[in-house]
Amino acid sequence: MNKNIPDNSRRKFIHDLGLAGLGIPFLSSCSFLDNKQNTKKLGIALVGLGNYATGQLAPALQRSQYCYLAGIVTGSPAKAENWKSRYNIPEKNIYNYENFDSIKDNPAIDIVYVVLPNFLHAAYSIRAAKAGKHVICEKPMAMNAAECDQMMAACKEAGKMLSIGYRLHFEPYNLEMARLGQQKIYGTIKKMSAGFGFSAGDPTQWRLKKDLSGGGPMVDVGIYCMQGFCYTTGMLPIAVTAQEGKKMDKEKFKEVEASLSFQFEMPNGLICEGKASYEEGMNYLKAEADKGIFELTSAFIYSGQAGYTPNGPMNFPKVNQQANQIDAFALSIKNNTASIVPGEMGKRDVQYIHAVYEAMRTGKRIEI
Ligand code: NDP
Repeated sequence: MNKNIPDNSRRKFIHDLGLAGLGIPFLSSCSFLDNKQNTKKLGIALVGLGNYATGQLAPALQRSQYCYLAGIVTGSPAKAENWKSRYNIPEKNIYNYENFDSIKDNPAIDIVYVVLPNFLHAAYSIRAAKAGKHVICEKPMAMNAAECDQMMAACKEAGKMLSIGYRLHFEPYNLEMARLGQQKIYGTIKKMSAGFGFSAGDPTQWRLKKDLSGGGPMVDVGIYCMQGFCYTTGMLPIAVTAQEGKKMDKEKFKEVEASLSFQFEMPNGLICEGKASYEEGMNYLKAEADKGIFELTSAFIYSGQAGYTPNGPMNFPKVNQQANQIDAFALSIKNNTASIVPGEMGKRDVQYIHAVYEAMRTGKRIEI
């Protein structure tokens, strides 16, 4: 058995549910980890060599079973030189934003992975699809639902697949939350909460400029809380309310919220309370059920998750979430099966984010 799959019961759960197509996330096919057929690695080009590409995705690609770092697209010549020697990338696989479209003539690149600031996600995903490449786009998928539609249409027209960088669908502790919640292992969930926040440093960064980011911490990290609610409960919200938090630094957060709270109302009446912040550190996903609490006290980080159930601490093997995520997409391409985290899910979440902002702005309960 693959060491990445913690137990048979969860694997069966994953197979049985098959809910991804309904927009209810989770791992309809973690079985990708068992599939060793078709071993030629797919070439990935990372677009935008910032913190996430440098710190997480490039290292993950060194550990991928089905993909490798074949190329880069960057506006920084110094980064191009550095990455070229560090990762042994041939000159012909190095692009900038102007000559990017000529990637269509490069058979070494199968997948373009867009890791740019949010306002550029749609444009580069569409250009990648038009160049005949499969696309992975980072979260949030785009600035609005119309852009999401254009991205999906471009990929469809090109006959290429589109996936969103939702790494936690490939992480055992979050998967366990989904299993415990959806299978009602501790009974019905009575209350749920999640929070993700950190202190946003540089006051000049694109994340604080609304035109470049689309919003503040809700867009950036609140999205993980929304996702956690959906995969833990196995339900999608029917309505939302939201409140903006107080700003400690009004100058820094003049364009976007510094923090907010939101409440998802699920179809059975369950209320899920979410918090996102750029001024306060937090990282949790908690479900209070009939027979006790199950929770992750370190929920959304890149590694080192910690979780507890009424039976004691969770204990799963360490995985590379991003390598798993990328490999799952490679197998979707090779086997012509739907992505576990498709564009439809990305669009759904962009719509939820907009509903949260509308609720925050109007003070009203917004039906979804
Ligand atoms: P960074 O600011 O660190 O990097 C963005 C990179 O994009 C820059 O380094 C630059 O690369 C390129 N770029 C092109 N145009 C611009 C521009 N106008 N302004 C700024 N940068 C530009 O961002 P992150 O790496 O933190 O985030 C990138 C994306 O990844 C975001 O959408 C974010 O939401 C997502 N993300 C996802 C995470 C996850 O866990 N799934 C975690 C962190 C981020 P170059 O110099 O090479 O041109």
